[in-house]
Amino acid sequence: MAKVFVITGPSGVGKGTLISKLLERVQGLELSISATTREPREGEVDGRDYHFLTPEEFDRRIAAEDFLEFATYSGNRYGTLRSEVRRRLEQGHSVVLEIEVQGARQVRAAMRESVQVFIAPPDPASLRHRLESRGTDSLEAIDSRLEVAEQELAAQDEFAHRVVNDELERAAGELEGIVRAELGVPLDSGAE
Ligand code: 5GP
Repeated sequence: MAKVFVITGPSGVGKGTLISKLLERVQGLELSISATTREPREGEVDGRDYHFLTPEEFDRRIAAEDFLEFATYSGNRYGTLRSEVRRRLEQGHSVVLEIEVQGARQVRAAMRESVQVFIAPPDPASLRHRLESRGTDSLEAIDSRLEVAEQELAAQDEFAHRVVNDELERAAGELEGIVRAELGVPLDSGAE
């Protein structure tokens, strides 16, 4: 049966990389493309990385109740469109949401059956290192993201599953194992 997987955790923890590996390894999983009011980063494409919306358009979509969840994060708004999730589930695909903690809580309330995974850093210092070496955010934006990260780390016990991204391959394997167990598709079943 198709399921909704919520992958959350602080900015810089490596959610995106782990999710890319997950999507390569488990067939039938699709990533929901979020909407945001943030400016596109270099190389980001509208409709592929995000649906980039103006604040007015975002407000309009809120009023129309188009969002399954939405949150303000570090000065910008982000949200999951119901249509992104519904369409994929109707096609029989499981859906992966890569979202921050407030949104994860909203999905948990709306869809109790969603599978919630918190990705944790091996130590808090690794977040700054990763955000700095990624080079996509200003120093001011990094400080703001690290402030939010503290609150997000404090919420990790709320989540049914927790994966520490200490070593990429190991963490990717653990996440894959959680997803396969939920979907009932064991690694060696040949059912991929
Ligand atoms: P970024 O600006 O680095 O792309 O994303 C900032 C944060 O927003 C990340 O923690 C990311 O997971 C989260 N995020 C991305 N899309 C959504 C969404 O649709 N809803 C919520 N609540 N958070 C999102």
